[in-house]
Order: sequence, then C-alpha cells, then structure tokens
Amino acid sequence: MPCKSCELEPVISRRYSGEILCRKCFFRSFEKNVDRELRNQINRLSSSSELKINRIGVGLSGGKDSTVSLHILNMYSRNRGIDLIALCVDEGIEDYRSESLKYAKKQCSDLDVEIRISSYKDLIGMTLDELLRKAPPVASPCSPCGVLRRRSLNNMAKSANVDCMVLGHNLDDFSQTVLMNHSRGDVSRLVRMAPHRHVQSGFVPRLLPLRRLPEQEVYLYAFLKGMNFHDGDCPYAGKAQRNLFRKILLELENKQPGTRHSLLNGMEKIRENSPAPSELSSCPSCGEPSGGNGPCVFCREFGSFAV
Ligand code: SF4
Ligand SMILES: [Zn+2]
Ligand SMILES: [Zn+2]
Repeated sequence: MPCKSCELEPVISRRYSGEILCRKCFFRSFEKNVDRELRNQINRLSSSSELKINRIGVGLSGGKDSTVSLHILNMYSRNRGIDLIALCVDEGIEDYRSESLKYAKKQCSDLDVEIRISSYKDLIGMTLDELLRKAPPVASPCSPCGVLRRRSLNNMAKSANVDCMVLGHNLDDFSQTVLMNHSRGDVSRLVRMAPHRHVQSGFVPRLLPLRRLPEQEVYLYAFLKGMNFHDGDCPYAGKAQRNLFRKILLELENKQPGTRHSLLNGMEKIRENSPAPSELSSCPSCGEPSGGNGPCVFCREFGSFAV
C-alpha cells in the first residue's frame, strides 16, 4: 500500500496510528513530533519557573537516540540563537563506550558543537569495569551505573552553565520506566520523572523530545538520514532489570498497538492531578540535592570512593 498522503512507496506503517508514510512524509512527521514536544516541554518549564532558555546541553553517547537528538537540537537552537553543548559520560566500559565516544566526537566536530566528556574515573577514581570487579552489585550493574551517570551529567550540566539538558530517551525507554514505576507503586517517582516542569535548586532540569517516538522509528530516521552512529550494546545490558519490562511491553504493543503511548498519556494525567514536587533537601555530606533528609544516594553508595 502506498503512502496515504502522496502515493509514493512507503518506508513505514505505524500500527499505533494507522499511518503509512513514504520517506519524505516520515521525515516531516518525525521532525514535527520532536519539534512540538520540545516546544511544549520548554514552554512548560519556562513558564512555571520563569526561566529563559539560552543554553542547552545535549546528553550524547554516540548511539542512535542521542545522535538524532543532537542533530535536531542543532537545527532548533541555531534557528533561535540558543547555545548548544554536547555532554558525554564515559563510564569506562572497555570496547563499548570508548568506541561510541569516537562517533560522538565526530558528530560534534562535523556539526561544530562544543563537546565535554566526564568519566566515572574522574568522579570515583575508577571505571565502571573496575568498580564491578571490586564491588559486584547485588542486582544489576545498571543500578550503580545509573546513579553515577545522573551525578556526572548533572555536574557537567551545572559547570557548563546550561539552563536545561536534553536526553535522547525514546518512547520504548519512557514507557518502560513508567511501567516499572507503576509496578513498584512508586507514584512520587512517576510524578518526578523527566521531562521536568519545574526547576529544583541544584538540579538541572531534563527534557525528552523523542519520548513520543518508538525506538524503531528513531533508528529508521537515523538510518535514512545517513547518520553515523554507534550501533553496539553495552556488555552489561543483558542484566538490566528493565529487560523484563521491555519484553512485556513489546508483547503488549504487538497485541494491543498504542499501549506505549497510553502509558505515557496516563502518566501525564497522573502528573496533572498531582501537586508540584517539593524542593529537594541538600545532602549533608556533598551538598547536592537529596531525595530524603539524610545523605544522597551517591554518597550512600559511593561516599568512600568519591575523589
Ligand atoms: S546498560 Fe547498564 S551498565 Fe551499561 S551503560 Fe547502560 S546503565 Fe550502564
Ligand atoms: Zn508521502
Ligand atoms: Zn551526597
């Protein structure tokens, strides 16, 4: 069946919406979706916090999602005179991150975007590989990795003086996180998820312009645009807790197209009816924002390693 708008050969059939699109119509629809999401998220954040966005940091790994974010943000920011900087985290995963960062550096040099890289070695004196050998995690390697990544990115974003940070999470990532929070009954975490609508002291707000686009479409967009991205998997990814949620969601989406979008929309409805998150307290040990009254999760888990 040809593209429904212009009768050309299709590149995608979206089961969740019934659209059949040719290459040109797919690009147009994809970019419109990202642009609308980005503008809405920026407007919400700016109006609730009286924040003017002059400088944006893009979390960049060299993979497809962050590469697409960088390209789209590059167009968006240049048209509006906004400064853009790429923020990369080097976890220290041999033969994986070292490779993907080569792609990240090349993208930034091609687009003439400043790039900064911060490593777990700078933060705790050892790479993720070394940490996992020294202190094997009880659950998944992604748990300590997630804590370290959030801290590295927030530190970099603050020192780069950005007003907000854009991450490349797609619809699959986003709906998995929503489902994980639901399954734990963790409504407060659901309400605090990015895209953030409020600025909290010490914490750079994060925006997710790709969150309504499925992972396959982000891949297709990057591929059809001829983007040069890293296509490998982290060697620890097989142990991630979210794998089960990914599997369940793919099955649900297959039987009931639109489930991922429904999870996203449901989460937004819960958020609309919840009060704005209260200000975070400061960690008594490092001074960074903390979810509770005691030390933050970084100090609790890595206080003895911090350099
Ligand atoms: S898959 Fe897990 S361990 Fe690997 S980079 Fe991602 S969060 Fe870190
Ligand atoms: Zn078309
Ligand atoms: Zn702390």
